[in-house]
Amino acid sequence: MKISKRKYKPYKSIGAEELKAATRVLKTGEFSKFLGAWSENFYGGPEIRAFEREWSDYFQVKHSVSVNSATSGLIAALGAIGLEPGDEVITSPWTMCASATSILFWNSIPVFADIKRSTFNIDPESIRSRITPYTKAIVVPNIFGQAADLKKIMSIAKQHHLKVIEDNAQSPGALYHGVYAGTIADIGVFSLNYHKHIHTGEGGICVTNDDHLAEKMQLIRNHGEAVVGPKGVKDLTNIIGYNFRLTEIQAAIGREQLKKLKSLLKRRVETSEGFLNGLKHLSGLELPATEKGSTHVYYHFGLKVNSKELKVSKEKIAEQLNKNGAPGIFCKYVNAHLLPIFQRKIAFGSRGFPWNSPVYKGNVDYSKGICPVAETLQDSDFLGIPVCLYDLSKADVSSIIRTFEKVWKDFRL
Ligand SMILES: *Cc1c(COP(=O)(O)O)cnc(C)c1O
Repeated sequence: MKISKRKYKPYKSIGAEELKAATRVLKTGEFSKFLGAWSENFYGGPEIRAFEREWSDYFQVKHSVSVNSATSGLIAALGAIGLEPGDEVITSPWTMCASATSILFWNSIPVFADIKRSTFNIDPESIRSRITPYTKAIVVPNIFGQAADLKKIMSIAKQHHLKVIEDNAQSPGALYHGVYAGTIADIGVFSLNYHKHIHTGEGGICVTNDDHLAEKMQLIRNHGEAVVGPKGVKDLTNIIGYNFRLTEIQAAIGREQLKKLKSLLKRRVETSEGFLNGLKHLSGLELPATEKGSTHVYYHFGLKVNSKELKVSKEKIAEQLNKNGAPGIFCKYVNAHLLPIFQRKIAFGSRGFPWNSPVYKGNVDYSKGICPVAETLQDSDFLGIPVCLYDLSKADVSSIIRTFEKVWKDFRL
């Protein structure tokens, strides 16, 4: 069978509408109206405020606080919930590293729970097993395009008085029992980075229904320490501020991107359903599962090979898929607990802070073996199609499916 070496169109969500919106702001010459002093513009200019209002309307939340990245958003959210140095925060190893490293910025300690093989999302039972007297919060990544098991997680959190933050960078618009992923926990953080479903180059947005948490995030975003006096803020916990401000131009672009989210997701879901149908007959290949009550918006199309059954390494399979015309197939994601920063326990300075600080009373373990499901996926079973990178036509999807069939046949899988 002849396999085409076709080139795939890169994913592009930006068009004439964004160009017009950016030009509208460019003409004013006012690219940011934030003031790091107590005034009306402490909350940003007209585009920022309109964007935040529209985001809140769309996702049905009380407050949206825009920031310059989801990483900044996670830092702001973790500061807002009042973390103390030495507190432990549970998160997943199967996520972009910022879900974990953002915890360190408040001198708190990331603790890793394992994931569920079926969805790649954090496993509530593993969360439960990681709770200690020092646990203060949980950062829940809604990974690859669908919400984690948030009902169970929220109930564990309630029982143990923990705050929960959703890292929803990969799942904007995914539904969980009728509400949007990212709006269920105390705070949800979205990314507007170039590689995400919708973007403003760089950017992020934190959502919450809690007035106090929203105010804290607004303060952390914009040099909070400088305005607490005139604003009359009494609680100074974690009020030391950063500059996490988004620009007016980005906000104007973001407003247009939000209008396109539904149609962009529809196309991504159609592409992914093409793969679901076309790959299901391949032996030893597990397709992405969507949890009951959830919708999936497919940031990555996460596959699993059954390495015990197949006898060919996933590296070899990925190499052949890429050689034969399937684009960008990758076979490693993240085992965050195994990153050098956690293996060596060195974050600030060179002497092991914050783990060796006297304020930290726990004893967190980052050894290989603590997250067997995530580790098996990383070491031998995970394969992914980066559907976020391409704008795939029906013909592209068929061609990629034929490539999988050829590789499976060549390896006699
Ligand atoms: C992309 C991503 C982030 C970071 O987003 P930025 O806006 O680039 O800072 C955080 N968490 C997850 C799960 C992501 O995919």
